[in-house]
Amino acid sequence: MTGSFADTAVGHYINGHWGTAQGRNVIDVISPSDGRKVGAVVAGTDEDVNDAVEAASAAFPAWARTLPEERIRLVERLITEIERDRDALAAVLTEEMGSPLAFARAAQVGVAVADLRELVAAARTHHAEREISNSLVISEPVGVVAAITPWNFPLHQISLKVGAALLAGCTVVLKPSEVAPLNAAMLAGMVETAGFPAGVFNVVFGDGKGVGDPLVTHPKVDMVTFTGSRNVGERISIRAAASIKRVTLELGGKSAAVILDDAPVADSVSAVLRSAFANTGQTCAALTRVLVPSSMQELWVKQALEETHKWTPGRPEEESTVLGPLASIQQLERVRLHIEQAIQDGAEVVTGGVGGVTGLEDGAFVHPTIFTNVTPDMRLFHEEVFGPVLAVTPYETVDEAIALANDSIYGLSGGVFSADESRALEVARQLRTGTVGINGAGLDVGAPFGGYKQSGNGRECGTLGFEEFLETKSVMGARKPS
Ligand code: NAD
Repeated sequence: MTGSFADTAVGHYINGHWGTAQGRNVIDVISPSDGRKVGAVVAGTDEDVNDAVEAASAAFPAWARTLPEERIRLVERLITEIERDRDALAAVLTEEMGSPLAFARAAQVGVAVADLRELVAAARTHHAEREISNSLVISEPVGVVAAITPWNFPLHQISLKVGAALLAGCTVVLKPSEVAPLNAAMLAGMVETAGFPAGVFNVVFGDGKGVGDPLVTHPKVDMVTFTGSRNVGERISIRAAASIKRVTLELGGKSAAVILDDAPVADSVSAVLRSAFANTGQTCAALTRVLVPSSMQELWVKQALEETHKWTPGRPEEESTVLGPLASIQQLERVRLHIEQAIQDGAEVVTGGVGGVTGLEDGAFVHPTIFTNVTPDMRLFHEEVFGPVLAVTPYETVDEAIALANDSIYGLSGGVFSADESRALEVARQLRTGTVGINGAGLDVGAPFGGYKQSGNGRECGTLGFEEFLETKSVMGARKPS
């Protein structure tokens, strides 16, 4: 599967074969930059899901028995394929979900490669057998994995799940987001070229109802790994519970940046805006709430206002663009509703708002928006916008800032800014979140990533991300072969 999708709809990739799109319902893929159709994929059904799960199930026993070195060798080949086609992958991501080209190359494709490298390192150092008490404890692959992924960092999210599962010896059925499925089609082509055995990796395109739901409830799926919204995560947990599958969830967030009174203003502003506005705010771990000492609010916001001019919306295909469109017109409508609600609730707009972007009216563009004096009784304080919208809330004491940061159903990420790292670390320890960045430190794909509270469960990335796909067997009375 190449990078050109303009002419024909892409069929599923099942048991090493590409299905046809002839006579099938398809889902169009639309560029959020200008509304152009950039491709289409087959809309999968129960039958497609069943075929893919049967293929993954049949391939599992042999794949589970391959030596770890062989699985590592194939994933390393896949990495080589991704790197070779980095530009084409980035171009497809730009077309289908509007990620600015330079960002797509570095952060969408580049991070996916880094994810896979860290997972390979984890697989290499993993000890599958150890003695505990009077038993030989063996780790084994979980089985058939259903991976369901969103559109915001599609290749990164796919790589974390698929890379870890394949390295662990699991077989996979992937259902990528119907909004941005073309990068997954390219990846399947690379899996094929890398030489993975048929049935080990399968892709079924389609939406949540047509493909996601039958996957989650299929009796031969042993584990569901999901990244997406909180509400779909809840539904998947309930649906999967009937067959007691293992379910890991990476959900949303409303992460807070705690600015301590000794934090450098300019540096903290740059880092927070980068976190909140990159990928047009469509980042689950984005720092979208800023907690700032009330005595510092005016200065911090003034600096943020100046810095926001660097985040001018532009066409994602242009190399110099840093802020592309939102991923779809539907997403633009959702973001506008959040902005209108915040205004109604009494938050003060410092810059941005619901107005369209001049010259870019044909796409899903929105101005980066900053609100001040946001209080915990406002929806903006609690609800994930998934757009470039920042909420500033003043505080009086550090204890109050910590309480405000933790006043969320979510617990995905957070940030602390201070000239004194040990002071920042003390605050970081008190945040109920799965990750915290000190002074703007961003995603570390070698360290575990995941959420507390309703941001999900389980961890992705590196060693812990790899181990999520393992079962544990205690063979009592046995010893490790010498
Ligand atoms: P979404 O939940 O709408 O969809 C995610 C995936 O689930 C898609 O593939 C979709 O087709 C599928 N799906 C929808 N309904 C389903 C159902 N009933 N059963 C099974 N599958 C179903 O999310 P989205 O809009 O694609 O992505 C944005 C959300 O993802 C945001 O809330 C964001 O915070 C979250 N997210 C979280 C992380 C993380 O690691 N924590 C990372 C990225 C995105």
